[in-house]
Parts: sequence; structure tokens; C-alpha cells
Amino acid sequence: MELARVLFGRSTVARYSLWSLARNALSHQEDWPRQWRSPEPAEHYDVIIVGGGGHGLATAYYLAKEHGITRVAVLEKGWLGGGNTGRNTTIVRSNYLWDESAALYDKSLTLWEGLSRDLNYNVMLSQRGVLNLAHTLPDVRAGRRRVEANRLNGIDSEWVEPARIARICPILDISTSRRYPILGATWQARGGVARHDAVAWGYARAADARGVDILQTCEVTGIRRDRDGRVSGVETSRGPIGAPTVGIVAAGHTSVLAAMADVRLPIQTRPLQALVSEPIKPVIDCVVMSGAVHVYVSQSDKGELVIGAGIDAYNSYAQRGGFHVLERQIAALTELVPITARLRMMRAWAGIADICPDASPIIGATPVPGLYINGGWGTGGFKATPASGWLFAWTLAKGEPHPIAAPFSLDRFTTGALIDEHGAAGVAH
Ligand SMILES: Cc1cc2nc3c(=O)[nH]c(=O)nc-3n(C[C@H](O)[C@H](O)[C@H](O)COP(=O)(O)OP(=O)(O)OC[C@H]3O[C@@H](n4cnc5c(N)ncnc54)[C@H](O)[C@@H]3O)c2cc1C
Repeated sequence: MELARVLFGRSTVARYSLWSLARNALSHQEDWPRQWRSPEPAEHYDVIIVGGGGHGLATAYYLAKEHGITRVAVLEKGWLGGGNTGRNTTIVRSNYLWDESAALYDKSLTLWEGLSRDLNYNVMLSQRGVLNLAHTLPDVRAGRRRVEANRLNGIDSEWVEPARIARICPILDISTSRRYPILGATWQARGGVARHDAVAWGYARAADARGVDILQTCEVTGIRRDRDGRVSGVETSRGPIGAPTVGIVAAGHTSVLAAMADVRLPIQTRPLQALVSEPIKPVIDCVVMSGAVHVYVSQSDKGELVIGAGIDAYNSYAQRGGFHVLERQIAALTELVPITARLRMMRAWAGIADICPDASPIIGATPVPGLYINGGWGTGGFKATPASGWLFAWTLAKGEPHPIAAPFSLDRFTTGALIDEHGAAGVAH
């Protein structure tokens, strides 16, 4: 084995390439090295990230890559990507309304476009375009306004009329006799989908390769503070771990973690469900969303229709939601695309979404020195994963926010400088 390592350059972080694929064919593809280590926790790190979802792992990766900070641990209570990262409907786009959000989400889309190459891991970004349908005159006005706002921010966004919609997505019925006639749509051609698990795994592998310790089954149960109230580390199910800087990136539990340091957050935590149909031949090769009918759907590479539901009406930390929400979802899908009426559904699941009052995230410092938060991404944070990690790494490394992240500080809930994205972030993930 050691000889093979010397001869063929095998290491724990073998580069994926055509050459490595061919080389591993010699051992029937059975001898690939592990993608990341499983180390024991050290006593002390420079930075601890709580939460091993895409955002936490991306933060660790960019801390190491962009800022040279490698004494970093990512603590995950379950398994990597087992939270919302592995449960979402994978829609990626950047056509949000306000300038602050446009800067944030377009930074993300730009990072997405180079991500597979950067991580040496295929995150299967498929820029198949995202349609957001308008069914009423107010829908049309809001959609056109968003398109104009996007264009002022340099984002590729267009208004498309029904005839073009029929060409983009032929299974949509554009006849005007429908209960919800399609009057037009916003169209972002650079939007699409990506493989969610691969995003978590790709960031994990790349962060590990740069020396980050990834600790799974390591639940944070308390936040330690010194006499001055400054953060000094965390209590975990695997013992105490010290660090002067702790970043909470624990979607679904942001306020639970913050409460451990006596910080109260303006967050509602709700179950959010999705479901997939049995696989069928290709019928939708873009992402279709409708706020009025309340449905968003795309087709996976395996042929399943991937359908997103709305949030449940109550706060909950259970990874399951009400059946009536799914029932309504199926009704909405058949309303919009009647040919799906006889399609069988294969499975459904839920994640836990932390939602801020203005449907925008919190990225930045807390009143507790050394404690930072990246959360409140609600129902639409998957698309933000690269920028969220990139910006939060900057904040942790420099102790101050990057200009793109600055408007998303916690104190906007006291200053009133909210970034209301309900229109762009509602059903439209
Ligand atoms: C059904 C559904 C559909 C969605 N669709 C889309 C979509 O199409 N497009 C889009 O952009 N977004 C979508 N989202 C939202 C998106 O999934 C999330 O905003 C995003 O994945 C959040 O990523 P994360 O890395 O912060 O969270 P997560 O992946 O949830 O990671 C947080 C991690 O923290 C861990 N954790 C929690 N508490 C502790 C603790 N005490 N100690 C240690 N670890 C802890 C959790 O186990 C979890 O793994 C959807 C969400 C759901 C649920």
C-alpha cells in the first residue's frame, strides 16, 4: 500500500480527474481514499463552527482557503448534510428584489458557477433556468418590477410573455380560460438546480484537505464564556472544546444555540416539506414556480418531479410536517400542470426552517463578544450556500462584516433597516 502511495501518489485527498478514475479502475474502483478524516476533537481551535450543513462547511472551507485559518472545527450533531442541506429542493437563483439581496445572491450564483472546479467535486450545477409565473395583474406588476430591479443590479432577468413560456416549458397550459391563467413570468436563465448532498460533501472534502477538523455526532450542548462574558468555547456531547471565536451555522436551531449564550433572536422555526414523484420521462427541463397557485417544481436527473410545499403554520423542531400541507401541494400541482394528476408520489420529508420577520438572513456579530451567527435563511438558503460561507468566513476572520454582509446584521431588527424579501422568497425558493 505504501509502495502504491509512492508510485501513484495516493493520499487521503486524491485529486479527482480522468487520470485518477483510470488509475482506480486497476483496483475495480474499490480503493478510493476516504473523502475526509474522522479525527478526535482537539482541546482548542481558533474557530469553532456549530453545524455541518452546507453553510457551516463552506464557512470552514473559505476560512482556510481565503484567510489561512486552518485550526478550525466543524461540529455536527448528526451527519454532514443531514439537516436542510440534504432536504431541500435544490433551486438556485439570484433574482431577489432589493439591492442588498441582489448583491448577496448574485455573489453566490457567481461562486456556484465555478464551484465544481474550485472544489474538484462535481456539484452538478444545472443552469436550466427558473420561471416564476404571474397569474394576476398584481403578479404581473410585481414580477416586472423585480425584473427591472434585477437588471439595474446587473442580474440576468427577463420578463417573458405566454407564447415564450410555452416554448420554454411546453407542459404549461397558457390558455386564458384556466382558473389561474398564465399572464407572463420572470425568467432567470442562469438559475437552476444543483446536487445538494454533493455540495456538503464537496465542501467537507475540500475543507478537510486544508486541515479543518470535521466532527460528526458531536452535539453542542452549551456555550462557554469567561468572566468578561466573552466566548471561550463550547460544551459538547464529546466534551468541552475551547475557541475564542464561535460561529453558529445551525439552521433549524439557530435560536436554540443562541439562547445558550442568552441571546434572543427574532426567528420563527417551522417545518418545511417537499416530495418527489415516481420517475417519469423528461417533461420539465427548467424550474417552474407559482406564488399564486403555490407550487414549485423541477425534474431530477432520475426523472422524479421534485415538488416543494409551504411551511406549516406552527413552530416546531420536528423534521416532519402536516399531511394537509402535502395534500394542498398536490392539488396545487395538478391545478398548474393537470397531466400530473395520475402521477404517484414516492416519498415526502421535511426540514426545519428558521425564518426572520423580513425573510432575509442574519450574518454577523451578536452582543456576546466572540459569538457570531449565520442563520435565519428561512426557506431559501441553499442557493446562498457559497456566498454565505464566503462572507461569514470574512466576518469571522476579520471580526467585521464584508460590505455585502453588513446590511444583514442582527441590529437591523432594532434600527428598522429591514430587507423585506417576502415577495421574492415566499414560495419562490
Ligand atoms: C423542504 C425544503 C426545501 C427547500 N428548498 C430550497 C430551495 O429549493 N432552494 C433554496 O435556496 N433553499 C431551499 N431550502 C432552504 C435550505 O435548505 C436552507 O436554507 C439551507 O440548506 C440551510 O443550510 P445550512 O447549512 O445552514 O443548514 P443545515 O443543512 O440544516 O445545517 C445545519 C446543521 O446544524 C446541525 N445542528 C443543529 N443543532 C446543532 C447542535 N446543537 N450541535 C451541532 N450541530 C447542530 C444540524 O444537525 C444541521 O446538520 C429548502 C429547505 C427545505 C427544508
